[in-house]
Amino acid sequence: MRAAIFQGPEKIEIKDWKEPECSENEILIKVHYCAICGTDVRTFFHGHKKVIPPAIIGHEITGEVVEIGKNVKGPLKKGDKITPVTSIGCGHCRLCNRGLYNLCPDTKALGYYYAGGFAEYMVIPEPAVSQNAWVLLPENISLLDGALIEPLSCVINAQNYLDIQKGDTVVIYGGGPIGFMHAVLAQASGAEKVIMVDPAFERLTRFASLFSDLILINPTEDDTVEKVKHLTNGIGADVIITACPAKQAQMESFKIASPHSRISFFGGLPKDDSIIKLDSNLIHYYEISVFGAFASNRSDYQKAVDLISSGKIEPSKFITEVISLEDIVNGINLVKSGSVLKIVVRIQE
Ligand SMILES: [Zn+2]
Ligand SMILES: [Zn+2]
Repeated sequence: MRAAIFQGPEKIEIKDWKEPECSENEILIKVHYCAICGTDVRTFFHGHKKVIPPAIIGHEITGEVVEIGKNVKGPLKKGDKITPVTSIGCGHCRLCNRGLYNLCPDTKALGYYYAGGFAEYMVIPEPAVSQNAWVLLPENISLLDGALIEPLSCVINAQNYLDIQKGDTVVIYGGGPIGFMHAVLAQASGAEKVIMVDPAFERLTRFASLFSDLILINPTEDDTVEKVKHLTNGIGADVIITACPAKQAQMESFKIASPHSRISFFGGLPKDDSIIKLDSNLIHYYEISVFGAFASNRSDYQKAVDLISSGKIEPSKFITEVISLEDIVNGINLVKSGSVLKIVVRIQE
C-alpha cells in the first residue's frame, strides 16, 4: 500500500509499505480521507514522544471497513463507513472505567502510538475494538466531511464544560480552524455575541468572511479588555476560550471574565514555558470556573456526527483544500503557515 512514512523530524517519505495485517481481534479499514491536525504539524517538525519512527501519523480519519477479525463481536460490518476514535485507554484504570479514555495515564492514540491514517489501510487495534472506538457515518455525511468529526469532537469535549447558554457572550482567542469551530459551535448553542481575537488580523478577517455574525478584535490595534467591556455593557464575557498556545491570552481571559463566567484553556502552552501569573481572587470573588480540555471520547464524536448530520455545522466551510497523499509535506507546510483552515488528504477514493 502507499503510505506516508514519518522517519523523524522534517522527514516524511511516500512509499510502498507493508499492508497491516488484521488479527482475529482487530478491524481493517480502507482509509478514504485524513485531515492534517496542528499536532501532525508539530510531530513533523519536532517529533513526538509517542511517535517512534518509522511511523504513520494522522488521526482525523474516515474509512471503510474491509475486514473484521473473527473474534470481533458487535454490529460493525464490511462496507460500513466509520471515523475511528483517536484516544484509546488501557481499559481498566479508574479513568477508563468512567469512559475518560483521553485522560488514561496509559492512553495510546491512533496516529501516534498506533499507525494512523496517512496510509491506504490501517487497523483498529484490539483495545480500540473492545472500547467500540469508532462512530458510524450516516448516509448524509460524506467521507470527506467526516474527516472533520475528530477535530470537532475535541471542540465539543471542551464546550461540554462551558454550559453556553442562549444570549451568552463568548470570546475566543485564536483564529485557526479550532477557533472557528469553537465559534460556530458556540453559535449553535445559542451564544448571542461571538468575539474572536487574533493578532494575525488579516487572516482572521479573511476566514471570518466564511462564517456569519462574528465580531473581530485586532489586539495589535485595539485594547481587547476595553473592547470586550464595551461590547458587553461593562459586564465582561460569559465564556472565554483560548484556542492558541499563548500565555497572554490565558492571563487576559481573567480580565474580560464576568462574574460566574467559564474559561477554557483549550490550547496548551509550550511545555518549557507554561507558568502564568494569575490573581486568584478573581476566581474566588467572581466564581469564575477554569477548565482544561484534551482530546475527546466517543460520545463527543457522536455529538459531532449529529451536529454535522443535522446541518448545524458544515464541514465544507472549514476545508480549504483537498490534496493527494504525495502532497502531504506541502499540506503540512500550508497548515504551519496559517494561511489555510483545514487541509484534508485524499488517501483513496
Ligand atoms: Zn486532531
Ligand atoms: Zn486507563
